[in-house]
Amino acid sequence: MKHKCNCGRGAVFIRKYEGRAYCKVCFSRQIERKIKSTIRNDDLLRKNDRINAIGYNSAVIKFILKKYFQPWDLQVSNKGKNIKSEDADDLSLEIFKSAMQGNILQIKKTNSPLRHIPENELLLYSKINKIKLKKKKLNRFEKNLKKILDDLEQKRPGTKYQIQTFAERLDNE
Ligand SMILES: [Zn+2]
Repeated sequence: MKHKCNCGRGAVFIRKYEGRAYCKVCFSRQIERKIKSTIRNDDLLRKNDRINAIGYNSAVIKFILKKYFQPWDLQVSNKGKNIKSEDADDLSLEIFKSAMQGNILQIKKTNSPLRHIPENELLLYSKINKIKLKKKKLNRFEKNLKKILDDLEQKRPGTKYQIQTFAERLDNE
């Protein structure tokens, strides 16, 4: 990749809809900033909380807590409250699946700090920071739906995000 990041370093990632290239450092920093702002805006954590990070991407949550939330004295324990780790792709798939099965009322706002991060960006972030993620297991129905979503996203960037916003609006009605 010949592109350069704004800071001058070589780029590892280009976000098409932004038309911007990122180096490892700036990319990681931006992902972390997004995760921290979701934690703040969604009021997901309080000082001295006892939390249990669950799901395929839980290793990222633990990494972020260790890196940024040490002073909060958070304890990671199986008995703590559940903090989910679904990324933006997981959520749009979950919502799409619920709608396809007629379970639209089961759509709920999630408590995942990663809900605004697309899967491909989370994978890259994990690779850069040497975080090992669990492999996602999808059944055939889910795989088919994911294919449709990926295709839509390709044609109309932002589709997955729109699906999430739609579900949140329903939930707030
Ligand atoms: Zn940079």
